[in-house]
Amino acid sequence: MKLSVIIPCFNEEDVLYDFRKELEVVVEEIKEKYSLDAEYIFVDDGSSDKTLEILREYHNSNKEYKYISFSRNFGKEAAMYAGLKASKGDYVVIIDADLQDPPKLMLDMMAIMEKENVNCVAAKRTTRSGEPVLRSFFARCFYKIMDKLSDTKIADGARDYRLMRRKMVDGILEMSEVNRFSKGIFSWVGYSTKWIEYENIKRKGGKTKWSFKNLWRYAIDGIIGYTTSPLLFASGLGLCMFVLSVIGILFVVIRKLMYGDPTSGWASTVCIILFVSGVQLLCIGIIGEYIAKTYIEVKKRPIYLIEETDEDNKEDK
Ligand code: UDP
Ligand code: MG
Repeated sequence: MKLSVIIPCFNEEDVLYDFRKELEVVVEEIKEKYSLDAEYIFVDDGSSDKTLEILREYHNSNKEYKYISFSRNFGKEAAMYAGLKASKGDYVVIIDADLQDPPKLMLDMMAIMEKENVNCVAAKRTTRSGEPVLRSFFARCFYKIMDKLSDTKIADGARDYRLMRRKMVDGILEMSEVNRFSKGIFSWVGYSTKWIEYENIKRKGGKTKWSFKNLWRYAIDGIIGYTTSPLLFASGLGLCMFVLSVIGILFVVIRKLMYGDPTSGWASTVCIILFVSGVQLLCIGIIGEYIAKTYIEVKKRPIYLIEETDEDNKEDK
């Protein structure tokens, strides 16, 4: 039996040494306790700093350390997919390199998985302390909206940090979509999941890779990817406008016939036209988002491209 640890890394030179130290202690303990083998799969997501050099060094010092290096930055979702694909373990853990996911928690995850015989044990933050207030606020709103709109339930504070059994990993790998929203994917595949809660921990070093714009895009991807309710909203709005306009027309025609009153004031007409065209553009925008996603999926471009792996490194030597 084997444990695979997957670590997506993007410009993490500042934290990798500390991370390895902490992680190794925990993994050694798990190996001994559950008599497992282990492999570490670092995925270098097109880093421009020394991340790749450090990973090469790790591989040379210990063959349990493997790495995959992308040709450019493809995003954490792609990195996780590549890691899962390369993993051979019966148990698979995904963990961030910045020590925001405490490696120690892995021991509890393992214990719960064995004791309760579930397919997945996932970490969830109970607080967002240390995060900008506005960001937490929008994150909360996002989870509320998702909860209302989508059948795929995504827990607030859910992390990608989780321990899974092989069958769940295989399930995730079958979802080979390009627009990857892993929180949705984890939930969509199902399988019994237990949650472990922990308090938010600040990054050890380096900076977060998420700008507000990225998070906004991520939220829209999540909504578009896991629910078609916005389309329903668009057609509902269209129907309401139609009913309202029919009533308006009847009102104006009847008034004209009964009182011969010519309709006056084009200011109100202009307002109505502006309003209606605004609603139309909004609805077209919503539909456009879905079409754009379809377009990207239809092209079936690869999720990531590899520039170098530990295998290449061996041939060089
Ligand atoms: N990451 C990645 N590719 C990216 C952005 C991030 O592989 O394009 C990795 C990053 O190295 C880290 C993890 O994903 O290990 C989480 O990133 P970050 O800490 O920036 O996100 P946050 O913890 O703020 O959600
Ligand atoms: Mg982080």
